[in-house]
Amino acid sequence: MWKQLRIWSFTLAAILLIIALQATLGTHKVGQKQTVAQKTTSSLPKGVKASDWDLVLVNKQHMLKHEMNFPKATLEGKIVDQRIVSAVEDFQKGAQQAGYATTLVSGYRSIADQTQVFNQVLQNNEAGGDSYDKALAATKAVVQTPGSSEHHTGQAIDLAGNDALAKYPGLEGAMDQFASQKWLIEHAPDYGFILRFPADKKGMEETGIDYESWHFRYVGVKNAKYMTKHHLTLEAYVKELNNRAKKQSQS
Ligand SMILES: [Zn+2]
Repeated sequence: MWKQLRIWSFTLAAILLIIALQATLGTHKVGQKQTVAQKTTSSLPKGVKASDWDLVLVNKQHMLKHEMNFPKATLEGKIVDQRIVSAVEDFQKGAQQAGYATTLVSGYRSIADQTQVFNQVLQNNEAGGDSYDKALAATKAVVQTPGSSEHHTGQAIDLAGNDALAKYPGLEGAMDQFASQKWLIEHAPDYGFILRFPADKKGMEETGIDYESWHFRYVGVKNAKYMTKHHLTLEAYVKELNNRAKKQSQS
């Protein structure tokens, strides 16, 4: 009788202990989640808005209908937004000082230029015997649809280490095997640039574009450092800034 009671009370104590443990762990998990979400929103840089000139978002979902109007300047024969000239120069100078010569492969491209490139490739594909639909799909796979390229903003640059460019003149993700390209990717935020199309799965889903180890976008030092630290694409960052603005207007 006493023995049975003792076994029962042990079992009961054990069950209670398990329930208590589960409850604690469960609460802990929820608490952690809340902390992470709160941290990301409350730590967003102050005084930054999604409508800032250097955060303009151009992609397939946010296509430009008209050419953008901005002050233009020429660097290495390429046009960029005049407001990013010193950032590009400093970025290249920094690379040079680290021992890497670089080439500015491209900068601003107008919608009109992009249309010309697009139509040329489309015509070539059709001349190769493709039906119009097939030729169009093949063209879209390699050329950005006019109006959807970030190069229309003048704030995007294709920048390559000279040795990486010599091996991959057509620009390929594998250029990042070179120390020069690695340096550019690693130090871009110090000069206000982000690697715009990252290699990770989440990033590719957000941008809708495959990894580009050479395409950098100017967003300013504060934004670039924050985005890089928190692994945010421009799409994700703009969304968070818009969420914050919505919350602030509600409160
Ligand atoms: Zn590019």
